[in-house]
Amino acid sequence: MFDYSAYLRNEKLPHIWCPGCGHGIILKSLIRAIAKTGWDKDDIVLVSGIGCASRLPGYVDCNTLHTAHGRALAFATGVKLAKPKFHVIVVSGDGDALAIGGNHFIHACRRNIDISLIIFNNGIYGMTGGQYSPTTPQGDKAATAPHGHIEPDFDVAALAKGAGATFVARGTSYHVPQLDDYIYQAFMHKGFSVVEVVEACYTTHGRKQKTKYKSNLDMMKWQKDRAVPLAKSREMKPEELAGKFVTGILHEVERPEYADRYAGLVTSLKGGDK
Ligand code: SF4
Ligand code: MG
Repeated sequence: MFDYSAYLRNEKLPHIWCPGCGHGIILKSLIRAIAKTGWDKDDIVLVSGIGCASRLPGYVDCNTLHTAHGRALAFATGVKLAKPKFHVIVVSGDGDALAIGGNHFIHACRRNIDISLIIFNNGIYGMTGGQYSPTTPQGDKAATAPHGHIEPDFDVAALAKGAGATFVARGTSYHVPQLDDYIYQAFMHKGFSVVEVVEACYTTHGRKQKTKYKSNLDMMKWQKDRAVPLAKSREMKPEELAGKFVTGILHEVERPEYADRYAGLVTSLKGGDK
């Protein structure tokens, strides 16, 4: 049986997350993916901003940074440029990554810096009480949208690809073996990799949708019913895909990586390439 305790700060447990929260599922996926890489824990830096998902690094036994709201990628960029040999991973909620940290997100994609970003997309600001985020489904109720949210949500994967990320995957907290693989493949990719994980927060989101979900299990069923694997989506018509989302490794290309280019510039300024 897999020994999670070898990767956890066991003295920090129990964790703070609510029963039924998707974050614990993603934590275990992340640990299995780390184990598969064979990386030394001392060479891993796990960075977060603020929010329920951002508590995750506190539980993992490696180098960890819990930073400011929306700024995890800025701190992670500094770490990667100062210590390029480190494997830098950022964990971030949808509000943290895409609203407050939205500019850091698009520019990390554009630079193609060798960092893996795991976005815990539960479509709500969980920790602060259920305000709507850029990925709250249109029509859902939120603390700041008591009559239903009228804005369309982001397509996170399309945004990442459009901004220049060189690896983009989307999984769910329901389809766990696939998620393990997407996170592992992101770690193996050289360049900026994004894994969006569609998951659920019943406490501040699900229980407000009284006719849609009766429990967090209904939110898991929502993921199961709406996720369409990439290969299957290619055989479907646009009207059949309406209201669903595509999962899989959606985009992977090679492009010069930012920390390498930065190191090359430093070398050339020191006259190292004369
Ligand atoms: Fe998870 Fe939501 Fe509870 Fe935060 S409030 S721990 S996101 S279920
Ligand atoms: Mg969230």
